[in-house]
Amino acid sequence: MHPKLRALQTQLQPAPLVHINCPELQHYGVELWLKREDLIHPIISGNKWRKLKYILQDALDNDADSLISMGGAWSNHLHALAYTGAILGLQTAAFIRGERPPQLSPSLQDMLTWGMRLDFVSRQDFQQLRQYKDWNSLPNHSNTAYWIPEGGSSALALAGVGELVEEIALAYDYLVVPCGTGTTLAGLLQRAPAQATVLGFAALKNSGFLEAEVCALLNGTIPAAPWQINSSYHFGGFAKTSLELHQFMSKFEALTAIALEPIYTSKMLFGVYELVRQGYFKRGERIIAIHTGGLQGRRTLHGS
Ligand SMILES: *Cc1c(COP(=O)(O)O)cnc(C)c1O
Repeated sequence: MHPKLRALQTQLQPAPLVHINCPELQHYGVELWLKREDLIHPIISGNKWRKLKYILQDALDNDADSLISMGGAWSNHLHALAYTGAILGLQTAAFIRGERPPQLSPSLQDMLTWGMRLDFVSRQDFQQLRQYKDWNSLPNHSNTAYWIPEGGSSALALAGVGELVEEIALAYDYLVVPCGTGTTLAGLLQRAPAQATVLGFAALKNSGFLEAEVCALLNGTIPAAPWQINSSYHFGGFAKTSLELHQFMSKFEALTAIALEPIYTSKMLFGVYELVRQGYFKRGERIIAIHTGGLQGRRTLHGS
């Protein structure tokens, strides 16, 4: 491992597996455990560290001096990237979807503070940027600039996510994860054992493209574990929410003292609880859910 990356890794915390002690789940005889990826780091949190690890290694191996990526104004990926770049001594830049808002989100303000250059681009231009996949595929950039696709969605991301699976020392029947680009799901599928079913919960509406995206990332590898993407719990679309979801989130937080965010992990857990009530899981089955982190994004929604 590159010494700079090793130095960064020493600042990170473990992501323990914790049992969710919940009377309702006990009533149905279903066991739920949460893999606390949110605890890895307050900023480079959750699946963003897992996805970036080998991308950053590759950038350093290629003697890159800057990292460039793209995302929305509340992007956990860009937030983690800006901070990581500052620590590793790499310049960072990002294309942000849409016009520059009169007031920058707390996430964007942090990115600026950490030295990230922000380029606000139209939705059409943003869409165009999605075609660039390889690190050196972005036109009009020097070969020391390292391109990272939206959300860190790259084949290199899968190995880092796979390490999370290796850390799970319990046998389980289901591994569940929220999905944005599906990269984390693809990483889990590379390592999940055949006797487990892997369930992704789409955070976006119209997520029909996700399955093909996951298969493309797996690049011909057939996962040992059966898998499926549930698209019933997006609550109207990405970053859309509801009173019901917020009530669920508050109840879960009160019961477990584990903070959630309403974009990804809450939607997944809401879906898991619904499926438990519908009898989808059998008595005695054990579910491992990934808390993917992203708590920094809560600030915009709660105005603090
Ligand atoms: C980015 C993100 C996801 C989505 O991960 P993908 O690999 O894009 O599917 C899930 N949860 C959180 C908290 C995230 O920040």
